[in-house]
Amino acid sequence: MAHPDDAEFMCAGTVALWAAQGIEVTYVIITSGEKGSDDPEMTRERLIALREEEQRNAARILGVKEVAFLRYPDGELMPTLALRRDLAREVRRYRPDAVIVGDPTRRFYGSNYINHPDHRVAADVALDAIFPTAGNRLFFPELLAEGFPPHSVREVYIAGSTEPDTFIDITPTLDQAIAALKEHRSQVNPDEVEKWYRQGDPGDKEGDPPKPTEEYKRIVLG
Ligand SMILES: [Zn+2]
Repeated sequence: MAHPDDAEFMCAGTVALWAAQGIEVTYVIITSGEKGSDDPEMTRERLIALREEEQRNAARILGVKEVAFLRYPDGELMPTLALRRDLAREVRRYRPDAVIVGDPTRRFYGSNYINHPDHRVAADVALDAIFPTAGNRLFFPELLAEGFPPHSVREVYIAGSTEPDTFIDITPTLDQAIAALKEHRSQVNPDEVEKWYRQGDPGDKEGDPPKPTEEYKRIVLG
């Protein structure tokens, strides 16, 4: 994910469900969200510390085992080979069976939200890192030298897709999901969080199932 809070907005209920089943979940957060404030008194360093703490607190509520921060500059993500290598390294480090990413093709949601460029880039490069990079030993030989052998991810869950085909009922973990999103106190109004979960989000089209369902396009790699 690009920022602290992205995972809670996209997949908190699923994460909590998986964790409750004994599945080890790791977050890899590319930036620490240090542009996420309009407060003239706020500094970059304080916001990094604050948002990483909020992310760790949210993750704890969901049962996430580990949170890794790559500390790329917020708002400036580009689809570089350096980012692809860094994400491939994390894939090889944690060796996941499944990865949840955003949808790199989503430029808009509804008629009142332009998708953040970091979200597109994070999703785009994460997919490139998963395939073909992490599973192919000839990509970035320095990763092998660092002690990270190839790893092939089996399943990819694309959150926020225009073509969802997998609908996960998060009723059992809805309270956890809401509590986790509320932990991002610098970003969300706690009163709005509950409403948002109950009413769906601006990207929902007519006929989309309302929360508490999380939707994905699921890709199973051969
Ligand atoms: Zn974000």
